[in-house]
Amino acid sequence: MKQELIERFIRYAKVNTQSDPESSTCPSTQGQWELARMLVEELKSIGMEDVTVDENGYVMATLPANTDKNVPVIGFLAHMDTAPEFTGANVNPQLIDSYDGGDIVLNKEQGIILSPNDFPELAHYKGHTLITTDGTTLLGADDKAGIAEIMTAMNYLIQHPEIKHGKVRVAFTPDEEIGRGPHKFDVAKFGAQFAYTVDGGPLGELEYESFNAAEAKITIKGKNVHPGTAKGKMINSIKIAMEFQQQLPADEAPEHTEGYEGFYHLLSFQGSVEETKLHYIIRDFDREQFEARKAKMNEIAASLAQKYGNDRITLEINDQYYNMREKIEPVRHIVDIAHEAMTNLGIEPKVKPIRGGTDGSQLSYMGLPTPNLFAGGENFHGRYEYISADTMVKSAEVIVEIIKLFEQKAS
Ligand SMILES: [Zn+2]
Repeated sequence: MKQELIERFIRYAKVNTQSDPESSTCPSTQGQWELARMLVEELKSIGMEDVTVDENGYVMATLPANTDKNVPVIGFLAHMDTAPEFTGANVNPQLIDSYDGGDIVLNKEQGIILSPNDFPELAHYKGHTLITTDGTTLLGADDKAGIAEIMTAMNYLIQHPEIKHGKVRVAFTPDEEIGRGPHKFDVAKFGAQFAYTVDGGPLGELEYESFNAAEAKITIKGKNVHPGTAKGKMINSIKIAMEFQQQLPADEAPEHTEGYEGFYHLLSFQGSVEETKLHYIIRDFDREQFEARKAKMNEIAASLAQKYGNDRITLEINDQYYNMREKIEPVRHIVDIAHEAMTNLGIEPKVKPIRGGTDGSQLSYMGLPTPNLFAGGENFHGRYEYISADTMVKSAEVIVEIIKLFEQKAS
């Protein structure tokens, strides 16, 4: 399984699928089409059925049931794109057999080193087969590792018909990194009762809680007058914006929060006397506290409007996604089965809240409850990204084990 995973992963990693938030097409970039077509051919060649790619680049396929038991249809998803913030062109993966625990020279010419001094997690990988970058690009283990793991698990089940299972659906999706993954995902066509994204980090990660998320855009209009004659006339929008920020609790910011703590995050602040624009994101695991945060922003805006004039402040808040826990809790057994699958394989499950969102955060609200499983990578979205091929094997085994457990528990 290991060689098969390495071969697949490296082949996918070499296709540039970096997504682009400025693009309005779906997929946002042509490279994702190239990978989608490659995956369609591969799914067919390993013997998957109903292999389709729709006009938006969503690839779907079926592993038909080989049992008469009434097993729920389950799905596995991974995303094809890589992060926009770091280049995904000309990815040139390096293979390190039996890692010795020391420094890894990613790029000799440029002196780029992956060192356990900077990344102490490397200690866990002594003896593993590692795949790294050449120091000039990201690797794209997020989430091409997930694709390789799902593909390899499907191939394994096809090669081992003695393993009984229900119907399994798989999907490879575009544009997760720019938050649009589920936007054009056809839940009805996919036809699964539950699904798992294979898009998490290190071994054992199992996630079914995400933030509730919104963004807020505030525009403040000032009044510019020559500073020599401004007394009683000038209204400086920058200073009103600073007042807005100062009324938010200073310690409820990303740099002061962790675990289940929520925050307000000032993303950008662009201003002149005449006009200032603030862009925030709001995050909280608890729905009530999330609503309270939005209300707090409205209150501050209202009080400033009262002080400086109604037409000076506009505040626009849009929800982005919600905590998937609300939708997964009622079908909690899907998390328990993933937990059991890992335990059966000697993997210690690490259940933790995601301080962000996954495709599952949106899919769960579209009627497809979707927790997230580890895919194995470390240091996502940059040149120090790497993955252990041994962890990839574990991930593929977890997928197979989950499928087995669903069959065993059915009647
Ligand atoms: Zn990802």
